[in-house]
This record gives sequence, C-alpha cells and structure tokens, in this order.
Amino acid sequence: MPRAWVTDVEGNRYLDCLAGYSALNFGHGHPRLVARAREQLSRLTLTSRAFFNDQLGPFVEALADLTGKDMILPMNTGAEAVETAVKVARKWGYRVKGVPEGAATIVVMEGNFHGRTTTIVSFSDDKVARDEYGPYTPGFRTVTFGDAQALRSAVDDTTVAVLLEPVQGEGGVLIPPEGYLRDVRTICDEAGILMVADEIQSGLARTGRTFACDHEGVVPDVYVLGKALGGGLYPVSAIAANREVLEVITPGSHGSTFGGNPLAAAIGHEVVTMLAEGEFQRRAAHLGSVLEERLTPLVRGRVGGGPGLRAIRVRGLWAGLDIEPGGPSGRELSERLMSRGILAKDTHGSTIRIAPPIVVTEDEVGLLVDAIADALAKP
Ligand SMILES: *Cc1c(COP(=O)(O)O)cnc(C)c1O
Repeated sequence: MPRAWVTDVEGNRYLDCLAGYSALNFGHGHPRLVARAREQLSRLTLTSRAFFNDQLGPFVEALADLTGKDMILPMNTGAEAVETAVKVARKWGYRVKGVPEGAATIVVMEGNFHGRTTTIVSFSDDKVARDEYGPYTPGFRTVTFGDAQALRSAVDDTTVAVLLEPVQGEGGVLIPPEGYLRDVRTICDEAGILMVADEIQSGLARTGRTFACDHEGVVPDVYVLGKALGGGLYPVSAIAANREVLEVITPGSHGSTFGGNPLAAAIGHEVVTMLAEGEFQRRAAHLGSVLEERLTPLVRGRVGGGPGLRAIRVRGLWAGLDIEPGGPSGRELSERLMSRGILAKDTHGSTIRIAPPIVVTEDEVGLLVDAIADALAKP
C-alpha cells in the first residue's frame, strides 16, 4: 500500500499533508513505483546521454502522449527544467521570432516561485530567496499575477515568453481569476510569444486534472514538469513542447549528465502510466471537494471561541488557508498541527498550505480538518 503517513524516530505517526511539496502525490513508497525502480536499479542506472538507453524512449513517448506535445527534454530537478525552458524561450526568440540576440525579455509574475538557481532568483520578489545573490540575470519583467491588462502592457517586441505557475503554490495556493489563463493564452497568441506553464507543483493530478491549465482548457506552448514526475523516489523533471519550439536545442547546445538516465526514465514512465489511467486525477477532484466542504465552516466561523480562517482557496486536493487576524501565525498553526499528528507548512506569515498525498482516504481528510479546527482553537 502507498502510505500517507510517516513515523518519526520516537515512533510518533504523522499524516503527511505537505507531501514533499507535491512530489509525493502518489504517497510514500507506492508499490508500483518501488517495484519498477528496484527492477531498473539492478539492471542499469546510467549511460550518460552520449549513449542511448532502452528506458528513455518509452518514457518520453508516454510523456509526450500525456502532454500532447511532440518532444520532451528530460532533466533532473525542477529548477533545471525551468532553466531549460528559459534557454529554449530565448533561443526560440532569436532563431524563430527574430529578436536581436541578447535583447530577449520574459514576463514573469509577482509572487512567483520557480526554484533556487541564480537566474531564477533574479526574477523572484521574495527578499529571503533573492537578496545577496546578485549580480542578477537581466531580461525579466514582472507583472501582477491574475491581471491580464498588466500582462498585455508588459509585452513588447523584445518579449519571447510569459512564464507562470497556473496556480501559485509557494505563493499560498493562489488561484487566478476565472478566464485569466485563457487571456494569457490569447495575449501570447496575438503577440506571437510562448506561454510557458510551470506545472512542477500544480501538475500531475494535484488539482484534480492532469495539469492545472486543464481547468481553463488552456494548452501552453511549454509545460515545465518535476516533483511528482519522480514519484517522490528520485528527481525527475522535463519540459514538453512541440517541435517548432524544442528543435532549437541541438546536440551539444544543452545537456545533463543524469537527465533522462535509465532509472529516472523507468520511474518517470511508471508515473506517466499511472496518470494516463486517470484515477489519481478523479480521486484528487473528489477528495478536494470533500476537503472544501469540510473546511468551509471554519471560514470566519469562530472555532471554539477563537479565530478561524479568513479565507480558503481549494483546487483539487490542494488548499491555501489564511488564518484570521488574532489567530496563530502560520508557523504556530503548523507546529500545533504537528503536535496533533499532521505535517503541514506555513507560507507568507499567516497562510498554510495543505497538499496530502492523493492516496489519503475521506476519513483522513476528515481527521485533518478536525485537527485544523482544534489547532485554531487552542495550543
Ligand atoms: C518546487 C518548484 C520548483 C523547483 O523545483 P526543484 O526541484 O526544487 O528545483 C519550480 N517551480 C515550482 C512551481 C515549484 O513548486
């Protein structure tokens, strides 16, 4: 059985509602993933990309089917996949769109989180993540997330792409206004630029659909994937795009020692096979509606006489909870939850996010909400 529970060294059990920031969508130790990894571990783990291996082809073919794209470029971590997307967008801008080399700009969103490399923190507005790592990489323009007019105004002749999370996870599970992703798609089409969706945290069943963009029927030019693509066993990331875009990468112009290695490809292939069956998406959608229904009474409801929640945002089995002023801080609430056997993490002071493995049961979702109500009311 895949597990949603973990045990610490003192024997205390916790329901893991952080789930490795959604890397553990399929739970801890999913038997299908573990079996596939074991099998490949004893066969072959690394050829380097200089030589072909028998696992990479089937993996990228399955992932191309899942994303509906022609080509896949596998990497390891999420940040590397984002970096790959940035490189592809720039090179595409110079080769295909005709932007003068060195002049490309990419529009990004306020409150974004795309990883920790120097280029990526260059366009972060989180001081803790960014400060004292300069000099910063130029070529990025920031607009307000959810404001289509602001995006339209920021796009000019130098713009090659818009990079966004369809739901901002680290931002606190921020869901843009209905229609925003469709507007982004239209703006990109009209300007002839790439829509790059960072679905590293929002994708692969978390929101009740394969991709968060599916909620608006939007298909980006580039999907950026990671986290759950490795099933929580191993770092596996990738970008997916059509040939006109991804063929700007030629042999030697990008690479990775471990990217697409046989062990990663075997695990990634099993993940994609599980997702293609659709069960995790359906389960996340159902459990998400249970979670939302159970959380709603805590919103502005006085829980046990104490403050409740100011707002909740739920998409699939993924929720951001804002605590009412006068209540515990996000950190404090997380610690109270931990003492009640629930792992969750705060973000931005008074918000916590909830993302249990999709293998949790309805009863466990109930247990979680009861623990939240109790933890809001008393230390
Ligand atoms: C986690 C995350 C990343 C970075 O992934 P790493 O594997 O930590 O490098 C990028 N984008 C989003 C949206 C993420 O949630």
